[in-house]
Amino acid sequence: MVDFLEVAERVWVARSDWHHVNVTAVGSERGILLVDTGASLATGREIVDAVRALGAGDVHAVVNTHAHFDHRLGNAAVREAYPGVPVHGHESLAVEAAAHPVASDEALAEDPRRDEALASPEALPDHVFSSVAFLDLGDRYAELVHPGPGHSGCDVVVRLPEPDVVVAGDLVEQAGPPSYGPDCHPLDWPVSLDLVTGLLTPATVVVPGHGDQVDREFVAHQRAEIGVVAETIRDLVQRHVPLGQALEVGEWPFPVDGLRHAVRRGYDHLPHLRRQLPLI
Ligand SMILES: [Zn+2]
Repeated sequence: MVDFLEVAERVWVARSDWHHVNVTAVGSERGILLVDTGASLATGREIVDAVRALGAGDVHAVVNTHAHFDHRLGNAAVREAYPGVPVHGHESLAVEAAAHPVASDEALAEDPRRDEALASPEALPDHVFSSVAFLDLGDRYAELVHPGPGHSGCDVVVRLPEPDVVVAGDLVEQAGPPSYGPDCHPLDWPVSLDLVTGLLTPATVVVPGHGDQVDREFVAHQRAEIGVVAETIRDLVQRHVPLGQALEVGEWPFPVDGLRHAVRRGYDHLPHLRRQLPLI
């Protein structure tokens, strides 16, 4: 069961009870722009039914905020219902999806609905872009922005200048701490969030990847915490703290059991420092 709630004028958000993923539907003269499609073909079909129940037109286009299964495995259901609908995403999404197959996703390891996700056909974006793209929706428009790597290498935010909404994907998290997976970029994430913050006004409704909508102040606070993670990794590497001790030695703003990949990826991204001999 998927229910859309209106969070701004003709912008509806549905939170799936599976992984609390947000799916956003933007109404326009040309139909619905759908941002993310849920974690499986079956969920995608429920989302299609909920979009139809809105009575705001057919799906005009789809955007995937990144490659993780819970945001895009419903793509095939939308294509099934609306043949030929364009699916937009970052140019590196397909490479990232291939490098981190759904079957290897740790979030699915103990998931009772794992088989449902694995049985869902891939329907990757067929319209890709590098930095920014513009979607003309008739009476309003959407900007798709890749602010740089962060939660993954292919994160995209969707900005609707009117009515001042930013759909942030998993670059911003409300349902729990930011998710640092095996494809995260912990050292780049703060800078990418600076770019996203630059798109926000005090009135912007920010839709995170999971959880309730937030505002600029929330994003600024989370950016500061993500910045602490990055600076702590840099500090530990400079002090030649071995990777195996990093979680224990560092002072982290988030629970350490979610930072295993952040630390490993951060150490990997700072090899020149790691290999440097102490100067004194
Ligand atoms: Zn994600």
